Amino acid sequence: MSEAVKDVGRSVSDANAPVFDVVVVGGGAAGLSAALVLGRARRRVAVIDDGEPRNAPAEHMQGFLSRNGMSPSALLEVGRAEVAGYGVRFIEGRVGRIDHGYFVQLEDGRVIRARRVVVATGLRDELPDIPGMWERWGRDLLHCPYCHGYEVRDEPLGVLGTHPNAVNHALLLRQWSDDVVYFPHDQEPTEEEREKLAARGVRVVEGTVARLVVEDDRLRGVELAEGSVVARAAVFVMPRMVPRDELLGDLGCERDANGWVVTDRSGRTSVPGVWAVGNVADPRAQVIVAAGMGSAAAFMINLDLVEEEVDEAVEEHRARSAPASSSLLPS
Ligand SMILES: Cc1cc2nc3c(=O)[nH]c(=O)nc-3n(C[C@H](O)[C@H](O)[C@H](O)COP(=O)(O)OP(=O)(O)OC[C@H]3O[C@@H](n4cnc5c(N)ncnc54)[C@H](O)[C@@H]3O)c2cc1C
Repeated sequence: MSEAVKDVGRSVSDANAPVFDVVVVGGGAAGLSAALVLGRARRRVAVIDDGEPRNAPAEHMQGFLSRNGMSPSALLEVGRAEVAGYGVRFIEGRVGRIDHGYFVQLEDGRVIRARRVVVATGLRDELPDIPGMWERWGRDLLHCPYCHGYEVRDEPLGVLGTHPNAVNHALLLRQWSDDVVYFPHDQEPTEEEREKLAARGVRVVEGTVARLVVEDDRLRGVELAEGSVVARAAVFVMPRMVPRDELLGDLGCERDANGWVVTDRSGRTSVPGVWAVGNVADPRAQVIVAAGMGSAAAFMINLDLVEEEVDEAVEEHRARSAPASSSLLPS
């Protein structure tokens, strides 16, 4: 990623800005996977990335067939090396704006042009305002049981009631341990929910959560406002997941009722030439799914470009043929 890109334009109006077939914004699993397939389709591709993948705090990435347990950074390193082998260019930096046409503008002022754009910028997790959250995030403060549940199986687990779906989160976690405590915090369970929690053996410990207790760089428990500490080895919380989709919004991409950008199955948005893949379009996409979304988009983007090139070739072919045939006409 450190390669200096010398042929990047300096302003939006820069006629010398280099033109790529496809610019991929975001070099996580989704973006790199799109770039790999497009590079192998012999497309001129640039990946622009500012180096903040969502799962960076986690030591291991689980659930990716053949890569289970690999570190998130190692996956990206291997992916970048593979993609670079097909001539894909990497540009470090943050894209601040995309103008129709497409002019992709980095925040430092550099500009490159693209015939098609893939936005693979992921999402931002917002955690509740409780002391200790960010320090433990991805380590022993977790959110996804499919990513980390197995590693804390049979341990004393806690679930924080800071999200409307927190009770279901606790009921789900019970699959991995029979010692699960639900802390209602600001999400008081209904009578029906209390019955479900009791029926599944999930203990409810009332009170407001004051902080996570950490000793020797390990989570020890959850402290309540009245001072008691409930010992826990790991705690689960549902973050608010906010798509990093400002670029798509500025381009005018349609959104659904929940505010997420609408795409078809290939990731194509409502704006021609613009695709959105990975967590920016689907908060549930794990790494393997995000990679699959990037791959699916690449197929359709290459097809879209081929169709455009065929149309252009036919026009040129007709233009070339026209004078020759008219010269055969009798004068
Ligand atoms: C703590 C934690 C642990 C996880 N563990 C697992 C796990 O074990 N297994 C699993 O399958 N999933 C796991 N996930 C989910 C995983 O992080 C996502 O599935 C995955 O990151 C989605 O890939 P993506 O390419 O869509 O987004 P990301 O990986 O987030 O990549 C997006 C990239 O775009 C870049 N970017 C954003 N905006 C811009 C911009 N304007 N300009 C340039 N670049 C930009 C970012 O810097 C980033 O590099 C975990 C998530 C978290 C939070």
